[in-house]
Amino acid sequence: MARFIFITGGVVSSLGKGLTSAALGALLQARGYSVRLRKLDPYLNVDPGTMSPFEHGEVFVTDDGAETDLDLGHYERFTGVSARSSDSVSSGRIYSTVLEKERRGDYLGKTIQVIPHVTNEIKDFIEIGDDEVDFMLCEIGGTVGDIEALPFFEAIRQFAQEKGRDQCIFMHLTLIPYLAAAGELKTKPTQHSVKELRSIGIAPNILVCRSEHEIPEKERAKIALFCNVRHEAVIPAYDLKSIYEAPLAYHNVGLDQAVLDAFRIDDAPVPDLTRWRDVEERLHSPEGEVRVAIVGKYVRLSDAYKSIAEALTHGGMANKVRVKVEWVDAEIFEKEDPSPHLSRFHAILVPGGFGERGTEGKIRAAKFARERNVPYLGICLGMQMAVIEAARNLAGIEDAGSEEFDFESGKKRFTPVVYHLKEWVQGNYKVTRKQSDDKGGTMRLGAYSATLEEGSKVAQVYGSTQIEERHRHRYEVDVQYREALEAQGLKFSGMSPDGRLPEIVEWTDHPWFIGVQFHPELKSKPFAPAPLFADFIRAAIEVERLV
Ligand code: GLN
Repeated sequence: MARFIFITGGVVSSLGKGLTSAALGALLQARGYSVRLRKLDPYLNVDPGTMSPFEHGEVFVTDDGAETDLDLGHYERFTGVSARSSDSVSSGRIYSTVLEKERRGDYLGKTIQVIPHVTNEIKDFIEIGDDEVDFMLCEIGGTVGDIEALPFFEAIRQFAQEKGRDQCIFMHLTLIPYLAAAGELKTKPTQHSVKELRSIGIAPNILVCRSEHEIPEKERAKIALFCNVRHEAVIPAYDLKSIYEAPLAYHNVGLDQAVLDAFRIDDAPVPDLTRWRDVEERLHSPEGEVRVAIVGKYVRLSDAYKSIAEALTHGGMANKVRVKVEWVDAEIFEKEDPSPHLSRFHAILVPGGFGERGTEGKIRAAKFARERNVPYLGICLGMQMAVIEAARNLAGIEDAGSEEFDFESGKKRFTPVVYHLKEWVQGNYKVTRKQSDDKGGTMRLGAYSATLEEGSKVAQVYGSTQIEERHRHRYEVDVQYREALEAQGLKFSGMSPDGRLPEIVEWTDHPWFIGVQFHPELKSKPFAPAPLFADFIRAAIEVERLV
């Protein structure tokens, strides 16, 4: 049975609990242990699928089709362990399960209460698959003291009580602020945060203290004494240039050792950190720089495209270059010529998105890339826009568009070259959907395979003709336009195994122009960059050499 590490946060949000959990997962792996990471979010949305990327950042999709918190992306990038739907849960999901059970009569007429019904549901969730790994790391979203998070804290307290001390530990992240006027680091907020935690019955074993200044031993000792934590278990966490430095940095300050000590494990293997040393080496010795424009709608908040930004970094690491990303608002091109805005980039990426706003600008960006031979990677909506561009400007379908936009505006304006998919095959099952279905979870979600055409650019990039990538969309390029578009040179080089759904398009007479219906960024890792991103950056370097 697994050992459990519960990770909580205090003082302020955004301390990097997700990254710390992910880095700790990587360190335990480096010592030969198997891990799984899990996120428990206190908000009431059933999942983040319907939340605006402005609110919540990117929605991370798992192989088994769950729409989850972006922290699961960090977990995967650091550990390479594919997240599952059972690795992410929100209060909303817990409550809806409890209420469904209540309606079904499962509770045999009992009064349904937060304790024990909600807390039991949380405990059951924590335990799923606990016999498969050595360590289960469970991160609780929000900060201690949040009203919404209370059932989660109570559940982990009970869980640890039931399992026993040797099987569960608590790690708490706090902030040690620096008061410039006093010229001092302040430990009081941390003391209060731990006090709050203890008042709900949780005594942390490890404190991870974020600080912008070095924490002197004297302060560390003070924190240990007042918070009732061993001196070596007060772990300083300083700002890093890159998130991928976190595993080595945490190892150097003794985080993994503190965890082993807390579990009283004294025969752990010495960690093999080669992977992370290699990652650091690649990060810190770039031999050049390429500039990539991301033409999108959610440009105000880069967290909305977290995995894309990371996958670009990985692509850069694969080629030993630094990738400088600039976010360009697609709407600009609805009024202005893209040329002056886009000419200074070595490559253009049009990411996924929802709704019509900005799409005409994305279509212009695709046209610019096609005509100017600039490497273009279109992801999901970015592929759909490239197809619409080709249909309008080359295949003579002047009113080509997506049904998504007609549905949104309630007017029939476009020939639906991209249409709403209502029936498809997933494994051995047929899935059916109506346009009017609920917004939540009604998309083509999760991993699907695609068959790539032998000799195509993508087959070369992947080094295979069978791939599996993750999807998250409602609309599809209509295969009936394949012939007309291929006649213009836009090859449908990847299709669903039944040949019905276009998965990949590429311009045959272009140095590098690929559109994909899926999200290759979701599976990219620093030590195993997504092939499409690695090759996209390689193509950008060629442009850089030509300039
Ligand atoms: N809005 C488009 C669709 O639903 C694209 C989705 C996306 O880019 N993830 O098909």
